[in-house]
Amino acid sequence: MTTVSARQPFAWDPAADLLSGPVGKRVTQCALSRVCGGCGEPLGRPIAFVGTPLERDRNAFHFPPMHAGCAADLLARLDALEPGSWLSVQTAGFEFVRANREDLDRRPTFEPNSLL
Ligand SMILES: [Zn+2]
Repeated sequence: MTTVSARQPFAWDPAADLLSGPVGKRVTQCALSRVCGGCGEPLGRPIAFVGTPLERDRNAFHFPPMHAGCAADLLARLDALEPGSWLSVQTAGFEFVRANREDLDRRPTFEPNSLL
C-alpha cells in the first residue's frame, strides 16, 4: 500500500491505483445521476472532464464528469504521476455514449457537446 495525500475520487476504487481508472458502475452512476466523479455531489456548470490528448482529439472521455475544482485536483495528482500526459476540458453539457456490443473497448464514453 502506498500512502495517498488526498482521498481517492468518488468514482475510483479506494484501494486501487489512481491510474487504474474509475470503477465502471460508479462511472455510470455519475453519468445517469449527474453527480461529480470527484466528490459525488450534484454537478453544476461548467462540467469538466479529465483525459488524455487522444481522448480530447476524439471528443470521447472515459473518466466521469466533474466539477471544475475536482477535475483540477485530479489533474494535479495525475500530472504528478505522469507529467504532461493529462489535460482537462470544460463544457456546458455532454452525451453519455454506451459501447456497442461489437466494440473492443466496452467502456462507455462521454462526449462534451461544446468546449468552453
Ligand atoms: Zn466535485
